[in-house]
Amino acid sequence: MFTELKKFVMADGVSGDEAGISAVLAAEIAPYVDEVKTDAMGNLIAFKKGTGKNPKKVMFAAHMDEIGFMVTFIDDKGFIRLSKMGGINYGAAAFSEVVFKSGLRGVIVPDANTAPNDFGPNKVYVDIGARTKKEAEKKVKIGDTCRLTPSLAKLMNGRVYGRPIDDRIGCVMLFEAARTAKHFENDVYFVFTVQEEVGVRGAKTAAFGIMPDYAVAVDIGGSGDVPNCAPFAVVLGNGIAIKIKDGMVICHKTMVDTMKKIAEETKTPYQLEILERGGTDTCMLQQTGAGCIAGALSVPTRYGHSGVEIVDMGDVAGGVKILAGLCEAELA
Ligand SMILES: [Zn+2]
Repeated sequence: MFTELKKFVMADGVSGDEAGISAVLAAEIAPYVDEVKTDAMGNLIAFKKGTGKNPKKVMFAAHMDEIGFMVTFIDDKGFIRLSKMGGINYGAAAFSEVVFKSGLRGVIVPDANTAPNDFGPNKVYVDIGARTKKEAEKKVKIGDTCRLTPSLAKLMNGRVYGRPIDDRIGCVMLFEAARTAKHFENDVYFVFTVQEEVGVRGAKTAAFGIMPDYAVAVDIGGSGDVPNCAPFAVVLGNGIAIKIKDGMVICHKTMVDTMKKIAEETKTPYQLEILERGGTDTCMLQQTGAGCIAGALSVPTRYGHSGVEIVDMGDVAGGVKILAGLCEAELA
């Protein structure tokens, strides 16, 4: 799974600019499904027909977009100002390398004499080494996107770190479920959504197009096991988290119970997640059209939205088992 995840992490896909990662995902999942298509908004939809007597429409969603930046202004000296795409912490991004789609590299730095709390769109810039505006404009245009340089490496205890693990880890879980499900009782739509990081936008049109009976979003969550963090019941390594609630959704009890049951039957450790704030594609899956029985799996994650996100691959493997179980299960 690490090799596949690395492939997905390296492909670029800042929100609204997801063609790079979409092409990689389409090629990787095609052998395991019946059809792969892209909807008008850019969501990638891989469909596998079920063979059950009473198949349900099951939709899995993992967002393929990642947080990043868009070029807004180039000054006379060739320094580049940015608009953030998604919930980037400028403090965590400062003094890091960024890479543009062309492969051009730069470094993101704060203006001189700026306190860390004041880092923001008009207080950080990218230095690509240009001497003049003209020189910079030959390489970079207004509207181009860039991102913190991607990376993925192994740590102790089956843990990995890098970026953007959010949410290429969800993408790899959908891929692994398509690859390892023993059979498909249900019609399953593996959907790699666009523009989640800027306000769960792609999931809305994807769900409207599919009108699923059941839907599960897979994304990163948090972890309550680092120094001085707020009390939070989910920790790294204790299993995949089945979401009960976050700031934007209360998951359907049927979905929570169904996933718990699959976890128990397959001896997969799991945790229960309640997030005070934040949200994922789940809320859109639940509310689009006439609605559906929606839930979510969260991968316990440390340092989300930084360049050093950490997850435990044991938790990830457990999540794949639950997704595969939903492909195989007779659902009411
Ligand atoms: Zn995410």
